[in-house]
Amino acid sequence: MITKIIDEEKIQQAKKEILNHNNIVIVTHVSPDGDALGASLGLYQFLNILEKNVTVIVPNAYPDFLKWMSGSKDILVYQDKKAQADEAITRAELIFALDFNTLNRIGDMATVVADAKARTVLIDHHLDPGGFADVVISYPKMSSTSEMIFRLICRMGYFTDMTKECAECIYVGMMTDTGAFSYNSNSSEIYSIISELIRKGIDKDEIYRRVYNNYSADRFRLMGYILSEKMKIYPECGTALLTLSSAELKRYNFRKGDTEGFVNIPLSIKGIIFSVFIKEDTDKVKISLRSQGNFPTNEFSAKVFGGGGHLNASGGESYVSLEETVKKFESALPEYKDLLVRELDENKE
Ligand code: 5GP
Ligand code: MN
Repeated sequence: MITKIIDEEKIQQAKKEILNHNNIVIVTHVSPDGDALGASLGLYQFLNILEKNVTVIVPNAYPDFLKWMSGSKDILVYQDKKAQADEAITRAELIFALDFNTLNRIGDMATVVADAKARTVLIDHHLDPGGFADVVISYPKMSSTSEMIFRLICRMGYFTDMTKECAECIYVGMMTDTGAFSYNSNSSEIYSIISELIRKGIDKDEIYRRVYNNYSADRFRLMGYILSEKMKIYPECGTALLTLSSAELKRYNFRKGDTEGFVNIPLSIKGIIFSVFIKEDTDKVKISLRSQGNFPTNEFSAKVFGGGGHLNASGGESYVSLEETVKKFESALPEYKDLLVRELDENKE
């Protein structure tokens, strides 16, 4: 059974905004992942059915393995089409902000979105939604923003209008934000929703293959390298660290998406409950954090890197060198040792 989790008042507010406006822009976070794109393109397909004039704008590039998604070719990448995107945002009557909580998560687009005259509806599942939107639909317990889009469409009374393409996008987001239903996925309602999506004609096995069996050989060579040469284990803290410099990424012909999921791998090691991946980018150092059980990676990330996210999956950025960032991590880790040891003991039981 699918229960009414989202407040009826919020559903009606969102519906009113949609029905009252024609020019709509959908924005999502930097380095858009499966959920960011699934929610954005799912909503895009739906608004197209209502014959709205919709533009999906993402801050920067996204992985090739998500480019098959319906509507992907219509996406404006802000970094490449700034003038066109700025114009769409300025002209918009309504902006949907999907899968992020605060405007700094949309990078360079933040100013123009903040200054836009449009009404704004935020739909998200991260903690602590910022106060920038007129309508805030925030449910941190929800496993993906895409699931929220499904619920919104149904509750507004449009389930029968949902197309297979829309259902596919929603499924991608639900699947990728739960590691193909391997974490954050114990709610029985997820499977009721999947059942409805299958009724819409999606081929879930095919979607799995398109997303997860579509990588380059370079990715696997890089994976072999990072696991054999660059993985550091801190056994007393049940922690693993992976690092990659720009030079190493270049050596393996890195393309966006090639390191997707690397941070999860050490969690498959017995006794590892906290995994951190630090990767050198062109203008910053990016940190990804994952945990099993109750260790709050988002608190760690907020305290050490000024980042945030969910309990078991979070991220942050650093503007000092890769080496300095690793030092920061290593000097913070002992402070969390007691908590990690407690978690490790509980995991053993
Ligand atoms: P990923 O490791 O896949 O890049 O990010 C995992 C989660 O961490 C994202 O869904 C997002 O919630 C959060 N996150 C990633 N990077 C940042 C960041 O720089 N700042 C904040 N506040 N959250 C982040
Ligand atoms: Mn998400």
